[in-house]
Amino acid sequence: MDFSLTDEERAIRDTARQFITKEVMPLEQEALLRERRHQPGLELSELRELQQKAKKFGFWGLATPEEYGGMNLPAILQSLIWTELGRTFVQFKFGGEADNILFYANEEQKREFLLPTIEGDRISCFAITEPGAGSDAANIKLRAVRDGDDWVLNGEKTFITNGNDADFAIVVAVTDPARRANQGGATAFLVDKSMGWRSEFIQTMGEGGPAALIFDDVRVPHRNILGELGQGFELGMKWIGKGRYLIPSNALGIAERALGMAIDYANTRETFGKKIGTNQAIQWMIADSEVEIEAARWLILRAAWTVDQGEDPRHSSSMAKLYGAGMVNRVVDRVMQVHGGMGYTRELPIERWYRQVRLMRIYEGTDEMQRLIISRDLLRGYTKIGGHLA
Ligand SMILES: Cc1cc2nc3c(=O)[nH]c(=O)nc-3n(C[C@H](O)[C@H](O)[C@H](O)COP(=O)(O)OP(=O)(O)OC[C@H]3O[C@@H](n4cnc5c(N)ncnc54)[C@H](O)[C@@H]3O)c2cc1C
Repeated sequence: MDFSLTDEERAIRDTARQFITKEVMPLEQEALLRERRHQPGLELSELRELQQKAKKFGFWGLATPEEYGGMNLPAILQSLIWTELGRTFVQFKFGGEADNILFYANEEQKREFLLPTIEGDRISCFAITEPGAGSDAANIKLRAVRDGDDWVLNGEKTFITNGNDADFAIVVAVTDPARRANQGGATAFLVDKSMGWRSEFIQTMGEGGPAALIFDDVRVPHRNILGELGQGFELGMKWIGKGRYLIPSNALGIAERALGMAIDYANTRETFGKKIGTNQAIQWMIADSEVEIEAARWLILRAAWTVDQGEDPRHSSSMAKLYGAGMVNRVVDRVMQVHGGMGYTRELPIERWYRQVRLMRIYEGTDEMQRLIISRDLLRGYTKIGGHLA
């Protein structure tokens, strides 16, 4: 058994780390100041500029196939890079990416939606959640009714990331109410903002925020169906599935950076005439965090490895998402405790992480949904205790 990275994996990971350390981390103080003024930490134009710089370093389209100019990296490498991205709270990500399901587009749709998204000229959002259907996504109600060459969409989506900035939405709508959405009753549509949907910003405890999307007789041409009629739910689950190992990968980077801060603080802050790190109470918080970080790392890498093996990654991804999201919440909480009052201020990014990582236990499948998947797989005998080693 070999737990080490290959030379190539290490080289790519280290180059990403170097870029983030040299080009992104220096922007952190300014980003914190701006966010305190309720402005974006990084303007879109600044993000694009950084992405172009990263392109010169060779980072463009981590998951994008080479024929579209991307790196087509295996899942293990994508996971390693998302961990590097997690080390900074500046909302940077590498360019050249598009929603994984946009690759199901036909040639005409690719020209109109996929290619400009990869280039960063258009912004997409993915919309399945509704006010009455989140975890129970098969219960969506936003209706699409055929009318000649068009479909007419009515209903509401909610909590849609990028919903306020997007030029177009990938919307999962009910096309056949006689069937459940997960049994062929739903279809994904590519819907330009110019077709008439509106967005309403939703305040959350995080920076930025998602949006509600309102569809009031929005006419969408039949040619804007993504994939096949009735394939909407399946595509939706593919979109969500990817986040289930990338979200915890990102969480890992946050936890590692935060723990590093706690160790530095424990080694310098003095109370009662000695460093706080000499107290067992502080040492235990550091030890528990390190153990949980390592446990999460191997669950996450195993999930990514399962993707690379071409096997069904749902079980291992659910375990990575459940544990990784919980881990980062516990670690950031301890790191705040180690910092005392300073941890609670906006001078440091800890309270920001504290707010940010809470979301990881909720979106793209709550903790409870991950537990449901994991236990269901075992109870039905779909997976074995011991996984691929059993
Ligand atoms: C900031 C943010 C960004 C988001 N981005 C997107 C996006 O881009 N696109 C998109 O489509 N959606 C997005 N979402 C939606 C997100 O995926 C949902 O909020 C999430 O799936 C939970 O759904 P819900 O909020 O309706 O909660 P509910 O489904 O109503 O659940 C409420 C609680 O009940 C629990 N629960 C529900 N059913 C069960 C059960 N059977 N057993 C045990 N417990 C259960 C849940 O775990 C949760 O604790 C986003 C959400 C947020 C907050």
